[in-house]
Amino acid sequence: MVYLDNAATTKMKDSVIQSMLPFFNDNFGNASSTYTTPGQNSRSALENARAEVAKAIGAESTEIYFTSGGSEADNWAIKGICEKNKKKGNHIITTTIEHHAILHTCEYMEKQGYRVTYLPVDEFGMVSVKSVEEAICEDTVMVSIMFANNEIGTINPIGEIGALCREKGVIFHTDAVQATGAVPINVKEMNIDLLSMSSHKFHGPKGVGALYIRKGVQIENLIHGGAQEKGKRATTENVAGIVGMATALKEATENMEEKTKKITYLRDKLINEVLSKVPYTRLNGHREKRLPNNTSFCFKYIEGESLLLSLDIEGFVVSSGSACTSGSLDPSHVLLGIGLPHETAHGSLRATLSEFTTEEEIDSFVAALIPIVQRLRDMSPLYEELKKGMI
Ligand SMILES: *Cc1c(COP(=O)(O)O)cnc(C)c1O
Repeated sequence: MVYLDNAATTKMKDSVIQSMLPFFNDNFGNASSTYTTPGQNSRSALENARAEVAKAIGAESTEIYFTSGGSEADNWAIKGICEKNKKKGNHIITTTIEHHAILHTCEYMEKQGYRVTYLPVDEFGMVSVKSVEEAICEDTVMVSIMFANNEIGTINPIGEIGALCREKGVIFHTDAVQATGAVPINVKEMNIDLLSMSSHKFHGPKGVGALYIRKGVQIENLIHGGAQEKGKRATTENVAGIVGMATALKEATENMEEKTKKITYLRDKLINEVLSKVPYTRLNGHREKRLPNNTSFCFKYIEGESLLLSLDIEGFVVSSGSACTSGSLDPSHVLLGIGLPHETAHGSLRATLSEFTTEEEIDSFVAALIPIVQRLRDMSPLYEELKKGMI
């Protein structure tokens, strides 16, 4: 099997699994207990993990709050900030191509009486800083704009948006689930107030993530109960998961430059080969300002779903866009958001790499893709018309 769906989830590393194991048996104690063993081992492991996660994004330990994943962090950021800062207003700014964890939360906020501005993006999927500036008004509570898009990989000018929001006194959240561990992030330099991340996107375990909340930012508590996570998110800590997440993030940020170089080389090889060898194909997203591991294409005159199935049969695991929307026949909101017509958006394919992807895998993927696309097009009535010069 050739796994090229690392934007959906990643394989856990052995080192990550090893780091977690002691917390399932020997160190099973409750991290919030006072006895020395085994609870204290859990407590110190938890706090070391918090420090490690903080370090990876240039934050303080005390600014990291563990959650059950990226979606929970996104939900908490928006609902928690709006509720606690009601006096400031009822306006939220986001973009049309956010992950559903943001978009559906914003739709929920609209039902609660909030006004949401969904900023359009350009043909590459990038939001302009100027459009953010123009959208900010008196009653704007927060801006939530993703660091990097999960379908097309485009990276937004987060530092500039952060600086603008800070200057205007508006709280700035970014969904950095795809960017964390993949590109350098410094929440202080980038003026980020809240940032969501998810462990399973960088070779850590599923079901654990974090929300960075800058010191001084007022947010409503998420889970009422015990004193865990400073009372903001009660429930006995998922120590094994949190330790695994910290190990994975530490390893992801170590030698990032070197790994990025290797992944970028393979990404660009894949893009260049596909664009040069498969006619009527477009690359989605920005050519340079994109995640090192992301490729996203649209093949005209074919259905993405049939393409995925054919590739799957030959052992290549890719996706049409996001894992959350596959299975539905609606074209991706991201591809529509960058201005693609429905019929083009239907023929989409996302192949996302990891540090484990090899050049042989990329070569065999391209070799398999070319005849499959041709076979599917040969069955398409539209392609038939095209060949006859009718369209
Ligand atoms: C995967 C993803 C999420 C959701 O993270 P979970 O941990 O699976 O809930 C949110 N935003 C983006 C951009 C993602 O890629």
